[in-house]
Amino acid sequence: MAARRILQLGDPLLREVSAPVTDFAATRPLLEDLRDTLHEFQRTHGFGRGISAVQIGAPVRLIYIEFERVCYALHNPEFEWLSAETFELWDDCFSFPDLLVRLRRSVSVRLKYLDEQGVGGKLEAAGALSELLQHEMDHLDGILAVDRALDRHSLATRPEYERRFRHTNGTHL
Ligand SMILES: [Zn+2]
Repeated sequence: MAARRILQLGDPLLREVSAPVTDFAATRPLLEDLRDTLHEFQRTHGFGRGISAVQIGAPVRLIYIEFERVCYALHNPEFEWLSAETFELWDDCFSFPDLLVRLRRSVSVRLKYLDEQGVGGKLEAAGALSELLQHEMDHLDGILAVDRALDRHSLATRPEYERRFRHTNGTHL
């Protein structure tokens, strides 16, 4: 398996609604490519925690996350609950790594998913993992962080973001 090119903002495939995973064994090579691509991004950018299959050109409902040394391979994830309480953050994306977007996410979420064998599981998360999950779930429906910009002051290039906002709460995907 290998790291693949990450689709960039402007590629129409990023706007597609991904299809459910049906053949779990056949999806395994794609999962390995997602893992390799995430690791390559981490190696070249110094950050990176999550990626969706559509970002490497495969519009299926598969998310791969590495968060605090735990790996999550979420097939066909669905939200069961999102908290009404929200928070604001500066978000970024492998598909536009030099752009930051100020947006709002739920503080906590709960979702159900299937693992590599098609076995069901549940995941509850708050804070940084919660907003990461919401970001990756958006990809499955063709929604990008730029769509959620709060207002016209909510976009910044990475150098300008670093210059202005580095002292506040930023996050890296
Ligand atoms: Zn993204």
